[in-house]
Amino acid sequence: MRKHIVAGNWKMNNDLPETQDLITSLKRQKQTSNAEVMVAPTFTNLWHANESLRTTPIEVIAQNMHFAKNGAYTGEVSAAMLKSIGVTTVILGHSERRAYFNEDDTILTQKVNAALDHEMRVIFCFGEELADRKANNHEYVVQQQISNALFHLSASAYKHIVLAYEPVWAIGTGETATPDQAQSMHAFIRQTLAAKYGEDLANKVSILYGGSVKPNNANEIFSKPDVDGGLIGGASLKAEDFFAIVNAF
Ligand code: PEP
Repeated sequence: MRKHIVAGNWKMNNDLPETQDLITSLKRQKQTSNAEVMVAPTFTNLWHANESLRTTPIEVIAQNMHFAKNGAYTGEVSAAMLKSIGVTTVILGHSERRAYFNEDDTILTQKVNAALDHEMRVIFCFGEELADRKANNHEYVVQQQISNALFHLSASAYKHIVLAYEPVWAIGTGETATPDQAQSMHAFIRQTLAAKYGEDLANKVSILYGGSVKPNNANEIFSKPDVDGGLIGGASLKAEDFFAIVNAF
C-alpha cells in the first residue's frame, strides 16, 4: 500500500517565537489517521523545529536547497547542511520557486540529483498554470515537467521520490481543483510513470495534491484512489486546521 503523506509548507511565515507557538499547538493535536505528517518551516527555524518535534512522529523538512555541495553561493543552503541538522526531506520545484526564482527543469534536475546523492527524500512539485488548463494543455505540461526533471533517474531512485501535483491556479487562491480533476490528473501522472518505469513502480509512488486544501474539502479530495495525501500551504499555519486535514484520511 502507498504511504499517505500530509506535509505543511509554512513558506516565509513565522519568526522563531511564532514557530515555537505553532509547534506547541501541533503537539496538542491528536492524530487519528495513518498519514505521515511533515512540516516545512523556513531555514532559520529548521534546527529549532527539528529539536522540538524530535519526540513526535512529525517530520521536519526543508522548503528548498541549493544543488552545489558548498562554495560561493551567497544566501544558499546545501543538502549537506540540511543533513547536518537532521533534515532528510526537501521540497523541490514548488511553483513559487519556479515563478519567482526562475527555477527551471535544468536547475531542478541538478537539485534532485544533489538531494538523492545525499540520500535525501524529495517532494517534487509541479503543476500547470490556468492558461494551460484553459487551452487543454495541462496534461502535456505536467508530463514535460516530470519527464524533464525526473526521467533520467533509475527506478531504484523512486524509493526517495514523492510527487506533488499542484495546479498553480489553485495555490493560495482559495480555488481548488475538484476531486475529479485531481483524480484525473493523478491517474494521468501514474500512467506517465508506468509508461516509463512500469506499473509496479508507478503504483508505489505517493502522489500528493496541493492547492487550497482545507478541513472542509480534504476528505473528498483524499477519498480519490490516486490521491495519496496533500501539500498544504495556508491551512498548515493553524495546528487545528492542519490536523483536521491530517485526520481526513
Ligand atoms: C502550497 O503552497 O504548496 C499550497 C498548496 O498552498 P495553499 O494550500 O495555500 O494553496
